[in-house]
Amino acid sequence: MALFRENEIKALKQGRFELLVIGGGATGAGIALDAASRGLRVALVERDDFASGTSSRSTKLVHGGVRYLEQAIKLLDLGRLGLVNAALRERAVILRIAPHLTRRLAFLTPLYRWRSLPYYYTGLKLYDHLAGRLSLGPSRFVSAQQARACFPAIKRTGLKGGLIYFDGQFDDARMNLSLVLTARQYGAVVANHVEVRGLDKRSARIRAAAVHDHIAGDDWEIEAQVVINAAGPFADLVRRMDDPLAKPTLNLSSGVHIVLDQRLCAPDLGLLIPRTADGRVIFLIPWMGTTLAGTTDSPAAVDFHPQAANQDIDYILRELATYLEHPIDRSEIKAAWSGLRPLIGAANVANTAALPRDHAIDVSPSGLITVVGGKWTTYRLMAKEAVDRAIELGGFAPRLRCFTDQLLLLGAHELRLEGEQAAGCLRGRNMDADLPVDVASHLRSAYGDRAPQVAEIAARGYFSRLAQGYPFIEADVLWAAREEMACTVMDVLARRTRLAFLDNAAARAAVPRVSKLLAQEFHWDELKLKVERQLAEERLAQGL
Ligand code: FAD
Repeated sequence: MALFRENEIKALKQGRFELLVIGGGATGAGIALDAASRGLRVALVERDDFASGTSSRSTKLVHGGVRYLEQAIKLLDLGRLGLVNAALRERAVILRIAPHLTRRLAFLTPLYRWRSLPYYYTGLKLYDHLAGRLSLGPSRFVSAQQARACFPAIKRTGLKGGLIYFDGQFDDARMNLSLVLTARQYGAVVANHVEVRGLDKRSARIRAAAVHDHIAGDDWEIEAQVVINAAGPFADLVRRMDDPLAKPTLNLSSGVHIVLDQRLCAPDLGLLIPRTADGRVIFLIPWMGTTLAGTTDSPAAVDFHPQAANQDIDYILRELATYLEHPIDRSEIKAAWSGLRPLIGAANVANTAALPRDHAIDVSPSGLITVVGGKWTTYRLMAKEAVDRAIELGGFAPRLRCFTDQLLLLGAHELRLEGEQAAGCLRGRNMDADLPVDVASHLRSAYGDRAPQVAEIAARGYFSRLAQGYPFIEADVLWAAREEMACTVMDVLARRTRLAFLDNAAARAAVPRVSKLLAQEFHWDELKLKVERQLAEERLAQGL
């Protein structure tokens, strides 16, 4: 086991915490950072890997949500309009605090009927207006010829023109990890592969959680004055540890994405299909040298490894065929995965009526705070609200007010330096000269101002690619093991690099090399190496 993680586990065993956060997705990681940066003593545990739940399986948009805006207008719902507005403000915050992990992305909305133009044009102008000075660029009309020129794959017959608008895109799993590691810098004690299996009450109040470390096989208790359940789609399972009779509050829905060849999209232009046959939207987005298409919305059961169902994949292919010049064949799919949306069935969450409808915070009689719903873009607002509730419940006296809107994430600091200073930090070790352009660019966007340290590992002989055609290299694996708490082959392939999400076959081919590198780092014996390798092969064979 890496020293880094060993120290965290030791601190979890010895510490007494004000706050224990269950779940290391966007919500839990955001809460840990908020609370630690206000000066609270915080622990965070995640049963699998950070972001292994829904938070690595999103559409990767940092957005106000044009679809939510449409719903708000149709339903004349000011509450929903407020949510879009809040998300647009958060979009600007995320782009500022993690510039290396995010970018502005243009989207084309194709128009096949002139009468759709005023409707979508007005909607997108309103979207610009709501963003105000935080707008990422004005939306505009383009002719059919321009639309075809910038998005050659689009169906030409009947195309009248298109609308271009702007939103944000990010690497969800690495953003999640950055939140966790930044929380750690502020004093939070964090561990992946540690599962909460029970909640312990004293005088009818939860005071500790029984946990199991899946890596070392240990069991122990973590003491905390307040416990927050940020287990996303699994939140009802944790609520039942508090009250075995607790009624379910969540309905789960599966959202599937498929990954296709890069040639479908230009590197910096996505496609928004504004209305599918069943009234949904589908995105086709350039993502890390591939094209991401999705998503779907089908009722689902609780599942720690949700699979992309065949009918959902067929649905995406069918809808794309309506809008693309050439239909896509199933054999062209490089990867497919599903994420679970926790949809709130508010019936049993008594005290959430006054809260915005996209997320809910509930406090049980024994003091378990449950936070569910929302979206990635608004994780920070949910975190702030949850920490405020915890402070109230625990009677804590935080040293500082919430300032996460100003708090740069790990990797972002020197990127915010100006001109010469920044150039010195990032190019000082001649990163560009030593590495292929795509690898250098990947290191910069994945690690920000820490990229030169990864490049140094590469310079010591760990520069080979993990898979042909992708920029991930052996140095990524060693860095992940040493500095980013990666414990398993899948931690590296799915969430430190994104190879498993991008290309299943390439990830399977990379398993032997990644296992060997981890074995070298963690001193695995032959048997352990074999087991870890098999586990990764099985997971990739089943789908993520
Ligand atoms: P999760 O990420 O699921 O985290 C919960 C964690 O709790 C899991 O990692 C789980 O392992 C852990 N856990 C469970 N039980 C225990 C236990 N007993 N002990 C310890 N840990 C435990 N939002 C956007 O803003 N932009 C998008 O483009 C976007 N696209 C989306 C696309 C899809 C298909 C879906 C489903 C959602 C999308 N969202 C998007 C929403 C966003 O992804 C979610 O709101 C967000 O990821 C939820 O994070 P979470 O931390 O609440 O849940």
